[in-house]
Amino acid sequence: MKVEENLKQIKSAILKACEKVDRNPEDITVIAVTKYVSAERAQEALETGIDHLGENRDDGLLAKWEVLKDKPTWHFIGTLQTRKVKSIIDKVDFIHSLDRISLAKEIDKRAAKKINCFVQVNVSGEESKQGINPEDVAEFISSMAEYKNLNIIGLMTMAPFTSDEDLLRSCFRKLKDIQAEVRDLNYDFAPCTELSMGMSNDFAIAIEEGSTMVRIGTALVGEKDQEVQ
Ligand SMILES: *Cc1c(COP(=O)(O)O)cnc(C)c1O
Repeated sequence: MKVEENLKQIKSAILKACEKVDRNPEDITVIAVTKYVSAERAQEALETGIDHLGENRDDGLLAKWEVLKDKPTWHFIGTLQTRKVKSIIDKVDFIHSLDRISLAKEIDKRAAKKINCFVQVNVSGEESKQGINPEDVAEFISSMAEYKNLNIIGLMTMAPFTSDEDLLRSCFRKLKDIQAEVRDLNYDFAPCTELSMGMSNDFAIAIEEGSTMVRIGTALVGEKDQEVQ
């Protein structure tokens, strides 16, 4: 499938989700997650008008960056090892996986400009998932005050891999509740206006629950390069 056709379906699902809860579709940013596909396929995504790309590994990001440079706005969405920060920091605008102080310290040290960071929260409590425990988020964010190159733009979570709608919904709702808690703190270094939640299987539910950035790979660009018919 062409990215353009996939995008058409995704946009119509976004519209439907927004209508259901009376939200403005313009408040939702689609990040095309290109980790499974080639730079050519990523380029195809850009040609449809998407301008946000997401990668979850440093080598994947660097390989795509060689080709696409700073045409897209780059999002780093995966677990980020502290020692890998240096290689990606001047190429990304958003990091979705801030989950520890040592990482904040390294980003702050290496960044030449303010980096928009999402604090990753392990809402579901699954052991396999990265992220700060919900009850520790406020304290963690309070400790970000000293890292002047970080702008805590929002919270990110990965929902469990399930088709149980109620479970997904409660997971997204919890992240939104934590966001409200953080916004009440009124920190200028942590406006926390964004929610990065929703992937191929659950983005419509995430939008109904308040997501402002959806990270879509499989449903948008495919799992691996497919011949364009
Ligand atoms: C791969 C990935 C996605 C996209 O997953 P799809 O199910 O293919 O849409 C979103 N977020 C993160 C953090 C990922 O690693």
